[in-house]
Amino acid sequence: TKYVYTFSEGKAEMKDLLGGKGANLAEMTNIGLPVPPGFTITTEACKEFYKAGRNFPAGLEQEVEEKVAWLEQTLGKKFGDPNGPLLVSVRSGAVISMPGMMDTVLNLGLNDQTVIGLAASSGNPRWAYDCYRRFIQMFGNVVLGIEHHRFEAVLEDQKYKAGVKYDNQLTAEDWQEVIKHYKTIVRKETGKDFPQDPMEQLYKAIYAVFNSWENDRAIVYRKIHKIPDDLGTAVNVQAMVFGNMGDDCGTGVAFTRNPSTGEKVLYGEFLTNAQGEDVVAGIRTPQPIAKLEEEMPEVYRQFAQTCALLEKHYKDMQDIEFTIERNKLWMLQTRNGKRTAQAAIRIAVEMVEEGLISKETAIKRVDPMQLNQLLHRRIDPNAKLEVIAKGLPASPGSACGAVVFDADLAEKLGEQGKKVILVGTETTPDDIHGMVASQGILTSRGGMTSHAAVVARGMGKPCVCGCESIKIDYENKQFLVGQLVVKEGDVISIDGSTGQVMLGEVPMIDPELSPEFQKLLTWADEIRTLGVRANADTPEDAAKAREFGAGGIGLTRTEHMFMAQDRLPIVQEMILASTLEEREAALAKLLPMQEGDFYGILKAMAGLPVCIRLLDPPLHEFLPNAEELAVEITRLKLTNSDQSEIKAKEDLLRKVRSLSEFNPMLGHRGCRLGITWPEVYAMQARAIFQATARLVKEGYQVEPEVEIPLVIEVKELAYLRQVVERVAQEVKEATGVDFHYTVGTMIEVPRAALLADEIATQAEFFSFGTNDLTQTTLGFSRDDAEGKFMQPYLEKKILTENPFMVLDRKGVGKLMQWTVENARRVKPELIIGICGEHGGEPSSIEFCHLIGLDYVSCSPYRVPIARLAAAQAKV
Ligand code: PEP
Ligand code: MG
Repeated sequence: TKYVYTFSEGKAEMKDLLGGKGANLAEMTNIGLPVPPGFTITTEACKEFYKAGRNFPAGLEQEVEEKVAWLEQTLGKKFGDPNGPLLVSVRSGAVISMPGMMDTVLNLGLNDQTVIGLAASSGNPRWAYDCYRRFIQMFGNVVLGIEHHRFEAVLEDQKYKAGVKYDNQLTAEDWQEVIKHYKTIVRKETGKDFPQDPMEQLYKAIYAVFNSWENDRAIVYRKIHKIPDDLGTAVNVQAMVFGNMGDDCGTGVAFTRNPSTGEKVLYGEFLTNAQGEDVVAGIRTPQPIAKLEEEMPEVYRQFAQTCALLEKHYKDMQDIEFTIERNKLWMLQTRNGKRTAQAAIRIAVEMVEEGLISKETAIKRVDPMQLNQLLHRRIDPNAKLEVIAKGLPASPGSACGAVVFDADLAEKLGEQGKKVILVGTETTPDDIHGMVASQGILTSRGGMTSHAAVVARGMGKPCVCGCESIKIDYENKQFLVGQLVVKEGDVISIDGSTGQVMLGEVPMIDPELSPEFQKLLTWADEIRTLGVRANADTPEDAAKAREFGAGGIGLTRTEHMFMAQDRLPIVQEMILASTLEEREAALAKLLPMQEGDFYGILKAMAGLPVCIRLLDPPLHEFLPNAEELAVEITRLKLTNSDQSEIKAKEDLLRKVRSLSEFNPMLGHRGCRLGITWPEVYAMQARAIFQATARLVKEGYQVEPEVEIPLVIEVKELAYLRQVVERVAQEVKEATGVDFHYTVGTMIEVPRAALLADEIATQAEFFSFGTNDLTQTTLGFSRDDAEGKFMQPYLEKKILTENPFMVLDRKGVGKLMQWTVENARRVKPELIIGICGEHGGEPSSIEFCHLIGLDYVSCSPYRVPIARLAAAQAKV
């Protein structure tokens, strides 16, 4: 096997083998851009490395040696040659980019001899010794595992001794002093001298990069982003270019469009006289890229042209790293840039308009789940804000929570369901778990491309960074803004779109869809064949759903209307009634209320179908809790309360107890309620039809679909259908209005799925209730699984996804497919949809498209997500 490729041997399509960075370095090399020469060790080599128990595969070292020789020849420099040493960088490069997760070593090839040569040949000893100390520091940290702060302490010490504030004020002699101390640290910590042989340095660095694939933060990152653990990383070895040789040098990162908003402007930052990681690490706050135009206009012009060319070539927004060495531009990396949902949409839409990509490609470019960011509440623009500080608007959206300074604590509180904002001078890859658990991130240092900013954008979390007016006092767990003291636990709000920081909680408003977002969704609608409806129980939800583009309602859960404060006592009367007359009396009181509910919902959805489910949940959900009731009775007795009150409560308790069930989810619920108490379903049907008749009279077009839940047998449906039809007939006669309606059922139990062909004869529609169907197919109680045993199932990879979130295609999906095939065989025109939680989850939506459902139904806020996901399923 060939394990090593020079850049000119690779291309963009070889990403799986060369990693993202390596493949793109190859591509840039081959389109003639200025890329320092180098080579890539493949991901295959990394996989072999792990297979061999963390040993280099046979033949790798020989190939590396050949490529080093080639590099030496190409550049006319030699490893270890004091008169013109070859220096290289060694960087990781996974197939799916994992920014900051794995290791990098720069300036490799320096040693006590070559540094002298470098000092002489560059005429810049200060710089040469700075390079060497950086190398020892990075190599010491990354390869030898020595903690960063050990080196930092020496540096601080030296600055103090020299009486200077900044690193770049130190002299060559100062750096030599630092190097001496660094080498002592290395000897102390490892028991060996700092390695002087460049080949040994190189192998050790390659080894460390391979190893870093399995470091803790990389493992956590892969888990969060669902990246497979077995891909391995490639290693890129590349000739060094230097951005820190003087003021005609610099280094930077740039996006070809604004990754926050999507605006088509070159966007980025650079630092004069600095080396690679200085920008990303957020240690010095860099300058906006526009400054480069002022300082080095010629280089800027060339850079802007290169960016335009790369964007045209890749047909996507690029995230670019570059270095300027003595006025010469070098490209070090390009990749498709991470972006916020807002930017993703704008870029996709504008690229279609620029003729760069097709509508289908635009649809594929936007991650439906990422749209969540835009479908959430944000700070009311009319609110009067008390802004205490302002930083950089690094990742849009707003967040509110308690201040926390420590990632571990953020994780702990986040897991308890507390809302926290992680605050720090900057973040590092070690803080990822805390960032995940926070509502937002606030840093006092670092720019728009600092770690905090990049990672927050990737996660879709609001972030304000480089907020220099806040002074963090870790010692006392507080930060200061002028005189103001904000302590850990105090609540603040941040707005990642403006960079503002506010004390306390601020007023928020509902989201709206931007014109670009609307446009993208219109394209999605043109492409998709799967319908999208919403689950909505109130006229307000129905209106919101309509605004977001729902094509109707796929589920109205009528029980939610029963829970209202003023209705619950009547519902309890209905449930606790001992005679039919008593029950009818309670139902008579509920009828006008339900009619009002349905009137509002049907009106809000006029012209579109509205599926209304008759009463479904176990009855105990409406009754007082037996234990609490017993406690109250004891209390009443102890306080010598009114005897009749005590007796009434005791009667109630007896009834509650008699109704209690061992397995309420498998008990007296769903259409079983309709079978035992047909009068309840009759009342609900009457409410639906009276509302329908009224609306028809008022000139509205309404299409109610009456849905019977939890059916297992066609005879249940036939019986209840008759109840509904009888009421419809009565209402038609009483009102003199003719109206149209349909009757159908939910498929929520395996028996219903298995007998779909029989059940279809009595239904105009089916709707998969995949919450219950998952529960009944797996035999997992949905209310217990998540808290108790789901986590181990996922961790042990017995299940790859939580089946209550992502549809279990293998099991539940098989039943669905069977249902569709068999039901449509007897009734091709049968409408089939889904209304469980899965109806708003992209991969489940794809499955629904594949098995030929007519629609998915989800919560109103998910409707735009579903519209996009349905289109993606088609393209
Ligand atoms: C379902 O079971 O999927 C469903 C939509 O009904 P509910 O969640 O109300 O039981
Ligand atoms: Mg259900």
